[in-house]
Amino acid sequence: MSLSRSPAFSARGALVLAAFVALPAAAQRRAPEPQQPNWPQVEAETMQHFQALLRFDTSDPPGNEKPAADYLKQVLEREGIPVEIISIEPNRPNVVATLKGNGSKRPLLIMAHTDVVNVDPAKWTHPAFSATREGGYVYGRGAVDDKDNVVAGLMMMLTLKRLNVPLDRDVIFLAEAGEEGATRVGIQLMTRDHWSKIDAEYCLAEGGNVTRMNGQVKFASVQTLEKIPRGIELTATGPAGHGSVPLRGNAIVHLAAAVAKVGAYRTPIRLNETTRAYFQRLAGISTPAEAARYLAVIGADGARAAAADEQLYDLEPRHASMLRTSVSPNIITGGYRSNVIPSEAKATLDVRMAPGEDTTALLESLRRVIDDPAVKVAFSGRASRPQTGIQRLDSEGFKAIEAAVTRHYNTVTLPTMSTGATDMAYVREKGTQCYGIGPALDFEDGAKGFGAHSDQERILESELHRFVRFKWDIVEQLARSTRIP
Ligand SMILES: [Zn+2]
Repeated sequence: MSLSRSPAFSARGALVLAAFVALPAAAQRRAPEPQQPNWPQVEAETMQHFQALLRFDTSDPPGNEKPAADYLKQVLEREGIPVEIISIEPNRPNVVATLKGNGSKRPLLIMAHTDVVNVDPAKWTHPAFSATREGGYVYGRGAVDDKDNVVAGLMMMLTLKRLNVPLDRDVIFLAEAGEEGATRVGIQLMTRDHWSKIDAEYCLAEGGNVTRMNGQVKFASVQTLEKIPRGIELTATGPAGHGSVPLRGNAIVHLAAAVAKVGAYRTPIRLNETTRAYFQRLAGISTPAEAARYLAVIGADGARAAAADEQLYDLEPRHASMLRTSVSPNIITGGYRSNVIPSEAKATLDVRMAPGEDTTALLESLRRVIDDPAVKVAFSGRASRPQTGIQRLDSEGFKAIEAAVTRHYNTVTLPTMSTGATDMAYVREKGTQCYGIGPALDFEDGAKGFGAHSDQERILESELHRFVRFKWDIVEQLARSTRIP
């Protein structure tokens, strides 16, 4: 066979020539417009997987996330996406799927939990695990907490893979077990023993949402920070005795006085970048009276801040809690017979610390407020979530989310510190920047009993689909390779 006529040779020659000729043009050429997902197809598939996931009863306790995890594994593997199952209890697996990037940036973690809170079947019009579609809604436990995020995460992986999107960073999907009260089988296991598999620069999880009122989008909350739950125990001791002979040292009387003082006490206002931005931006979309309060509590005038803070406590207690370390006496125990003065009585305080709170100083301030040597003040052994690191609002991650909020919801983004705790605390402790996002929900639905952890749960189909597109924009912005191929 003649070398000059070899097809391989000619092909190579043509390629070299083409590359040579095309080079000046290529240098000016922009990267080709990325191929967009086929949205009608994505929506149909989103609904199919969403209903399938809602139909697994993953009530926690006991959890039993295995059928949901198996389902995810099978769907991902069918697509050729490698999956790892990690568990310490066979019925409570975590699913980790990874799409490899070119490694020029650190990974993006998309996480969501497969377990749901318990249901009272009597409260449900449509059975809680039926995933019934009616009137534009899908009904089912987990519809907004958190199988919406699970299915959106799944669709991110499937779509990235199918479009063969070149990635600057690994995209990792974690479907975790045990978020609703058994973190040892879920996020604690993953962050403690398997961190290298989910180690990421950014993480997207639940904890935010877009609020609609009267069907109109009002604002988007992106959770950038959360308070740290701790328990404090008050223990009053005194002499025991016969109830017919009252004693000054009665432990119950001392405890009651201490609880009353703690109840009236409010720790100083402690702001951070998130809460400052939150109140500032919220003021921009509020009534003049509300705006005045929000601006006052972040303002420099101490007296005005204090007055506005008092109003918030009455009118908007969640906002008052966001301003500080909060203390709420929630359990009180003592005494066992009506004719016996007990020698001990206890109260448990639910403390939600503002990030950066000094725990020793906090205990000291409570001791000063109670001012009673008969009452001991100490942190209880209750398991708590770790202190969260500083979350930046000027990061590439937060900016990508803000841009996607504007594009899909055309509204303001409120960086939000949640008063409750989420699994993101464990991930943030590792240094990952975590952002909690979620679909648009009707404000009115909460009062009607259709919200997360409510008697029933539902999501608007149109909002589930909008959320998937919103999340796609964020993921694409953060992970799609910017290198010209
Ligand atoms: Zn949740």
